[in-house]
Amino acid sequence: MKKILVSECLYGGRHVRYDGAGAACTDGIFLKWKAEGRLVPVCPEVCGGLPVPREPAQRRDGRVVTERGRDVTAQFRKGAEEALRLAKEHSVVCAIMKEGSPSCGVHAIYDGSFTGKKTAGEGLATQLLRGAGHTVFSESEIAAAKRAIDDD
Ligand code: SF4
Repeated sequence: MKKILVSECLYGGRHVRYDGAGAACTDGIFLKWKAEGRLVPVCPEVCGGLPVPREPAQRRDGRVVTERGRDVTAQFRKGAEEALRLAKEHSVVCAIMKEGSPSCGVHAIYDGSFTGKKTAGEGLATQLLRGAGHTVFSESEIAAAKRAIDDD
């Protein structure tokens, strides 16, 4: 069965976001894949050892820092490596990751100023996945992910 790596906050169930809120994806195709057991959930930040809730963090100058200036690059990197490990272990055909996140963002991330501004970019886990050749979609690209899977 073809598997898909997904951000755990999109998968639903355990609340893993920095603010403890849910962000479960309710797209019908996504829910069908979930029911079929195709989805491999991962929260890179929790896998990296960070708690829930946690201080918001953003990418800045090649690092990941919290609003109060704590450098959490090592935790983000550890979690991104775990996401990549899972992608390999399950031979996923692609990944669907949460847009805007400093770990999972696909097309846009916050710009490091903690002023709510976004910029073009990707999260650290998405960067590692793409660097290893994986195709990564955001939660608003489920139809494109389905086409990629159907063509695989
Ligand atoms: S790191 Fe990714 S999976 Fe975890 S809460 Fe943030 S966006 Fe969701």
